[in-house]
Amino acid sequence: KPIVVSGIRPTGNLHLGNYFGAVRSFLKMQEEYNCYFFIADIHSLTTHPTPENLQTGVKQVLAEYLACGIDPEKATIFIQSDVPEITELYTFLNMNAYLGELERTTSFKDKARKNPENVNAGLLTYPVLMASDIIIHKAQYVPVGKDQEQNLEMARKFAGRFNRMYKSEVFPIPRPFTFDGGDMIKIPGLDGSGKMGKSEGNAIALVEDPKSIRKKVMRAVTDAGPTEPNSPKPEPIQNLFTLMDIMTDPAIVQQFNDAYNDCSIRYGDLKKQLAEDIVTFTAPIRERVNEILADEAYMAKVARMGAEKARESAQATLKEVKELIGFKKLF
Ligand code: ATP
Repeated sequence: KPIVVSGIRPTGNLHLGNYFGAVRSFLKMQEEYNCYFFIADIHSLTTHPTPENLQTGVKQVLAEYLACGIDPEKATIFIQSDVPEITELYTFLNMNAYLGELERTTSFKDKARKNPENVNAGLLTYPVLMASDIIIHKAQYVPVGKDQEQNLEMARKFAGRFNRMYKSEVFPIPRPFTFDGGDMIKIPGLDGSGKMGKSEGNAIALVEDPKSIRKKVMRAVTDAGPTEPNSPKPEPIQNLFTLMDIMTDPAIVQQFNDAYNDCSIRYGDLKKQLAEDIVTFTAPIRERVNEILADEAYMAKVARMGAEKARESAQATLKEVKELIGFKKLF
């Protein structure tokens, strides 16, 4: 079976972007691939969570994975820090990752610009750790959203570089995977621009209560409406339509599109429709998250079982890697 790896940082509740960019593919892939889905707690250290926040975040993502339908009998679900081999491989990969290419990464530049007082080395080498996460299991496919496209490209580069340097084919070159085989997905935020993100303050969480969902959608940025028939949609309006495209019955989306094109659209109606569709979609997930969070023993069992399987796979790769590098027992 082809191998699949992907992870989510425990930096907040999962949102619609995480679901449609990543988790939806996880659910599909677990049926026919050998999947490793992890909670990227080491990656989350770049923003310095307190120990309490870190632990709450990890439990939350674990519960949300399970509530969304990731099945620990089908996929290996694990916590990144339970597999120390990942950081060992990361150290080795760092020796062939160059400052220039890391500095040019868009996500690094963005984060450094947004938070200039915390431009740490972990942030710079984020793509190296991500490469290690992926290639330590020899993944062929990585289901991630559009925001991770460049980081995945770096992982491909690091894998190929290691193979060439040690004249081996130890690492397959991982490829992006999208739900429907089309383009990588980017779910927009409700603030009119950019992507929806846990740390952006513009997300609708899967566990969000209906009142709050309605409030957020009704407040989404719009404009005065089109004045000419068939005019192009400005970004905030296009964003609402993008969300509708994934949440709403296509026949209803068509009606709103027609209304936009003949300038009769009422954004209030569109938002009401969208809010109700999001509420309907998220309600069962929210309920299950609460049930799972109340069952610590079950979560512990899942994490233990996952850690064991993930370590086994990581240890096997690391052994090969160390032999290739030339580390062997000399004495
Ligand atoms: P943060 O804001 O803390 O960076 P995030 O919400 O961007 O968090 P990550 O943990 O970085 O989430 O990403 C987890 C997965 O969700 C990745 O596969 C990423 O591509 C996907 N993802 C995150 N946001 C979106 C989005 N708006 N659209 C599509 N996919 C997304």
